[in-house]
Amino acid sequence: MTQPTDSPSPPPVRTTRLAPSPTGALHLGNARTFLITWAIARKRGWRLILRIEDLDTPRVKPGAIEAIADTLSWLGMEWDAPVEGPRENPLVQSSDLEPYRAAMRTLVEKGLAYPCDLTRAQIEQAAGAPQEGSHEVAFPAALRPDIAGAPMDFDMAQRDATRTARGEGSGANWRFFCEPGIVEFADRFAGPSAYDPSETVGDFILWTKRDQPSYQLAVVVDDYRQGVNAVIRGDDLRDSAARQLLLYRALGYSSDRDGPGEPEYWHLPLVVGADGRRLAKRHGDTRVETYRERGVSREAVIGLIAHWSIPGLPRRDMTADEFRDRFDPATMSRKPIVFTPEDDAWLLSRRVQA
Ligand code: GLU
Repeated sequence: MTQPTDSPSPPPVRTTRLAPSPTGALHLGNARTFLITWAIARKRGWRLILRIEDLDTPRVKPGAIEAIADTLSWLGMEWDAPVEGPRENPLVQSSDLEPYRAAMRTLVEKGLAYPCDLTRAQIEQAAGAPQEGSHEVAFPAALRPDIAGAPMDFDMAQRDATRTARGEGSGANWRFFCEPGIVEFADRFAGPSAYDPSETVGDFILWTKRDQPSYQLAVVVDDYRQGVNAVIRGDDLRDSAARQLLLYRALGYSSDRDGPGEPEYWHLPLVVGADGRRLAKRHGDTRVETYRERGVSREAVIGLIAHWSIPGLPRRDMTADEFRDRFDPATMSRKPIVFTPEDDAWLLSRRVQA
C-alpha cells in the first residue's frame, strides 16, 4: 500500500511582541517573560517587536522607556523593526491616539460602547466588594444607563467631555456592552481556558475619564495593526485575553482576512515571592537594573531565569543565546516560580566587580 507523501507544511511565520509598561524598571519577572518570548521568537524565526504601553497609567517614569530598551539590550535581546502599522520603533502608544479613537467610533456606531459617569465607589456599593484576587468589581448590568445601545457620536460626546474637564459637565468612562457568554481559547502554555467576562468584570472600560484608551482597547488595536498573531505574556493577563477576543470580534478584526486574525495566546506561569504573590516591590528590589548596578553579570541574571525555566538545571551562568538554544516551552513547569532568598543571594554572589 502506498503511503500518502504528505510533506509537513512549514510552521507559520508569526509576529510576537514585548509590551512593557514604563511604570518602573524591569524586574526579574518581566525579564523572564521577555527572555522566554525572545527565545521562542528567535528559535522559530518569528518577528519580535517592542511596543511601549504608556497609556492608562498615571505612573510613567521619566527615562523609563530608554531604561527598558537599555536593559533588554544589556541582557542580549534585540528586536525587529515593525513592518506593519506605524514604523516607529519602538511604537510608543501615547504618540498618537487617533487609531484608538477610530476603534471607539466603530464600537460606538455599532452600539457596543456607552458613556457611564458612575464613580468606582458607586459601582462598588451596588456590586459589593471585588472578588478575592481581583482589583476590579464586576460592573452590574443593572447599572447600565438607559442611553446604552442608543445611537451616539463618540467625537461629539468627547467634546462634551472636554467641557467636563473644565468643570462644565460630568466626566464619563466609556464601557463595552458585555453580553453573557463564555469565551474559550486554547492557551499554548496554560491549556484550554474559558471565561465569561460578563461575570468576571461586566461592562469593562474602553476609554477613560482622562480621555485615553484603556489597556484592553489599546492592546487589541495595536496587536491587530502591528500584525501580531502570537501573544506571550504573564498568566495574570489570561482572563484579559477573553475581553480582548470580544473586542477582536466586535471590531471586525477576527473576520478580516487581510489582518493577523485572533492571536494565539501563551500565558506564562508567574514569578511570585515567598508569600505566593506576584513579584513586586514588596519583595525587595528585584529590578534587573539594580542587580546590574551592583555588579551582577548578565549571564547570572539569565542563568537564574534558566534555572527557573529549564527543568533540572542548577543555577549557573548562561548567555541569552545558550538560553534560546536550550529552552523548550514543552518541558517548562506550569506552576508559578518562587523567587527565593537563595536566588537573590546567588545573584549577589555572581558580582563581577566590587
Ligand atoms: N503592558 C502590559 C504590562 O506591562 C503587558 C500587556 C500585554 O502583554 O498584553 O503588564
